[in-house]
Amino acid sequence: MQKQFVIIGIGRFGSSLARTLTNMGYDVLAIDSNVERVQNFTSEVTHVVEADATEPETLKALGIGNFDVAVVAIGDCIQASILVTVLLKDLGVKKVVAKAINDLHGRVLEKVGADKVVYPERDMGIRIAHQLISTNVLDQIELSSDFSVQEVLAPPKLIDKTLKELDLRPRFGVSVMAIKRGGEILVNPGADDTVKARDVLVVLGSNVELARFEEEYHE
Ligand code: ATP
Repeated sequence: MQKQFVIIGIGRFGSSLARTLTNMGYDVLAIDSNVERVQNFTSEVTHVVEADATEPETLKALGIGNFDVAVVAIGDCIQASILVTVLLKDLGVKKVVAKAINDLHGRVLEKVGADKVVYPERDMGIRIAHQLISTNVLDQIELSSDFSVQEVLAPPKLIDKTLKELDLRPRFGVSVMAIKRGGEILVNPGADDTVKARDVLVVLGSNVELARFEEEYHE
C-alpha cells in the first residue's frame, strides 16, 4: 500500500510539503489549529482538519498512529512542536520528521524521539550560497555536516576527457556517481566513460574537497 502522510501545521513549509506530496499522488492529511488556514487549504489535499495537535485524544480520534510518516511543521511555537513530536511517537507513528528553527530546538526534538530533524531555512541558505558562488553547481544535498552530493554542470576543461584521464578521485577526493546527459542518466560511470558538453555530473565528496574541485575548474 502507498505511504500515508500526516502534516501538522500548514504554514509556508507545511503547506508546500503537503501540496507537493498530494501532487505526487500520495494521501495527505493536514492538521492545523488555525481555522482560516484550514478553510483555505480544503481543495489542496486529500483531508484537512482543524484541530489542536497537542491534544492526545484528538490525535487518537484521527487515527494518527496508523500513518507511516508524520511531519511536525510547527516552527515558531517550540513548545507545541516538542509536545506533538512526543505524542506522535507515543501513538506509534513509524517515522516522525520535525522542523526545527534553530540548533537547540533540533537537539531537543532528537532527544524526544524525532526520527529526523529538518532545518529548511538553514539548508536553503546553504544551497543558495553554493549556487551563488559557483555558476556550475546546479544543486546540492548535504549528507552530513561534512559531506555532500552536488549536481555540477561539466566545466569546459573536463569535456571530451575520460574519467580515467580526469583522475578526479585521487586528485580531489571527488567521486562521480552518475552522469546526466539529455534525458538519460548513466549510473556508476566507468573509467573509460567520456564527459560530454552539457553533461551534468553527480559528484560526491567532502565539502572541502568539492569546494577545491569547483575552484580548480571555475571559469
Ligand atoms: P512557516 O515558517 O512554515 O511559514 P509559520 O511561521 O507560518 O510557519 P508556525 O508558527 O511555524 O507558522 O506554525 C506553522 C503552522 O502550525 C501554523 O499554521 C499554525 O496555525 C500551526 N500550529 C501551531 N500550533 C499548532 C497546534 N498545536 N496544532 C495544530 N497546528 C498548529
